Amino acid sequence: MTDLKTLVSLAKRRGFVFQGSEIYGGLSNTWDFGPLGVSLKNTIKNLFWHKMVTTRQDMFGLDSAILMNPRVWEASGHLGNFTDPLVDCKNCKERFRADDLLEQKLQKDKIPAEAELLNKMLKEMNITCPSCGASDFTEVRRFNLMFKTFAGVVEDKANEIYLRPETAQGIFVNFNNIVNSSRPKLPFGIAQIGKSFRNEITPGNFIFRTREFEQMEIEYFVFPGTENQYFDSWINEFMNFLTSLGISKENLRIREHSKEELSHYSNRTCDIEYNFPWGWGELMGIASRTDYDLKRHSEYSGVELKYFDPYTNTHITPYVIEPSCGVERLLLAIMFDCYYEETVKDEKRVVLRFPINLSPIKVAILPLKKNEPRIVEKAKEIFKIISPYFAVQYDDTGSIGKLYRRQDEIGTPFCVTIDFQTVEQDDTVTVRDRDSMQQERIKVGELLNYFKNKINLF
Ligand code: ATP
Repeated sequence: MTDLKTLVSLAKRRGFVFQGSEIYGGLSNTWDFGPLGVSLKNTIKNLFWHKMVTTRQDMFGLDSAILMNPRVWEASGHLGNFTDPLVDCKNCKERFRADDLLEQKLQKDKIPAEAELLNKMLKEMNITCPSCGASDFTEVRRFNLMFKTFAGVVEDKANEIYLRPETAQGIFVNFNNIVNSSRPKLPFGIAQIGKSFRNEITPGNFIFRTREFEQMEIEYFVFPGTENQYFDSWINEFMNFLTSLGISKENLRIREHSKEELSHYSNRTCDIEYNFPWGWGELMGIASRTDYDLKRHSEYSGVELKYFDPYTNTHITPYVIEPSCGVERLLLAIMFDCYYEETVKDEKRVVLRFPINLSPIKVAILPLKKNEPRIVEKAKEIFKIISPYFAVQYDDTGSIGKLYRRQDEIGTPFCVTIDFQTVEQDDTVTVRDRDSMQQERIKVGELLNYFKNKINLF
């Protein structure tokens, strides 16, 4: 683990994450993912899909549109309820979430977000502005987090649409399509990965809270009355998933929402939190959403969203458990957890100890002399052998010590060096292990099999 500043600097220097629109001075809290960042993100998503969809009989995939009929957001309650309590400091004009200000002051996890109560608490606790120190806030206003835009050329009320603030609603409105096309048996789930947008009042902490982010979501439909049992098994499933990505158990904890904190549709919710350098923060949530969404969409659309149970010959509205995880937040937690600094021969070594299947580059190919044609030719030949199977990086732009350090810093598990012994004596190369830093000589002809044995992509 390290501090945020060091991680942001590494992420930029090595091509994981760049500031968005940087050459124009940036656009606040937007981030672009560079070559290694996009690889890491894709791998996280692929591993999620593999574990939660491909290898399960009861799970079905979906990729629904970001733009949806605005009635969806009426039915789901987002138009009315998806708001944060906003206050302005009258002195310096800075804007805050009232609940954040109180949480910081009281060192509490969650404050109920009712406007009247918040107004009273802000005054009674004499909360001051974190920017200027004044204690003069406007009344709390509810601020809807959905981004609004227009479909088509006419910018009027009839054409107003929203960027989705969660992927989940795309799943509910496709319930009948999946049931009719895939014939699942209850309990079953639908999974989706995609972009969501929230006009957050106070984004921050690098990619932890942004206005544009990706979610991996599951709606797992169950018989009413069985939801608690499935709730617990989804917590377990995700704890296992998170630790399989290199996050240590000690840095994860489960926080059960209190009754006052529960959303209007939920009878139980837990967050899985990660111990970020700035404190525990929500990594993902698991919510028991009852039959609220299916019933509301049935009511608003006039289309019945029910499951026919062939054993009892009845139509039922299933209850649903929703695990929901932000891809970028998870990527950030993984980077923190895999970050190590060590001293080796009086020098600092930074290593990202990603699990092998997550590392953006699996094998680095490092010719020891870039001006020696025989070595270069052999290195290129090895690149051709390995690259159809594993992500490979060819690097000849520094001394071997420097190249090793660079690969350690991006978490590459194996470095292959090609030297004079390779081309003059025995056609062997050295393979260096990232974690032990041990080297062994392997015949070029055996190299691909060697890596196939060591690297499991799932
Ligand atoms: P928070 O309390 O942090 O605002 P939330 O409870 O509103 O989060 P959910 O609606 O439960 O979040 O969304 C599910 C997951 O989506 C979160 O656990 C998080 O991983 C991710 N997520 C939500 N909002 C953001 C955001 N603004 N930026 C990045 N990821 C987000």
